[in-house]
Amino acid sequence: MLTEVFSRHSADCPHRNNRYYKRCRCRKWIAFIGMRKRVSAGTRSWEQAERKARALSDDSRPLSQTVGEAARLFIEDKEQQDGSEVGPPSFVGS
Ligand SMILES: [Zn+2]
Repeated sequence: MLTEVFSRHSADCPHRNNRYYKRCRCRKWIAFIGMRKRVSAGTRSWEQAERKARALSDDSRPLSQTVGEAARLFIEDKEQQDGSEVGPPSFVGS
C-alpha cells in the first residue's frame, strides 16, 4: 500500500495552491494512493507525517486493527502509569 503526505492548507495560507508544500504550519494528511482514502496525520510537521505515512504503508494489516491495537497499548501503558502512582499498600489497623 503506497501512501503520500499532503498539506491541507488553511484558507489564508500563502501556499494553499501547492498541496505538497512542506514548510507551512497547516495540517498534514496522508493519502493512500489508488484508494479514495485519506487520514489525518495528526500533526503539522511534514517530517512526522512522513514517518507516520511510512509506518502505515509498511503495515499490511487492516488500518482499523492497527488503530485498535495502538489504543489497547495506550490503555495498558496508562494503567501501568496509574498503578505506579498509587504507591505501596498501607496496612491500616494491623
Ligand atoms: Zn499551508
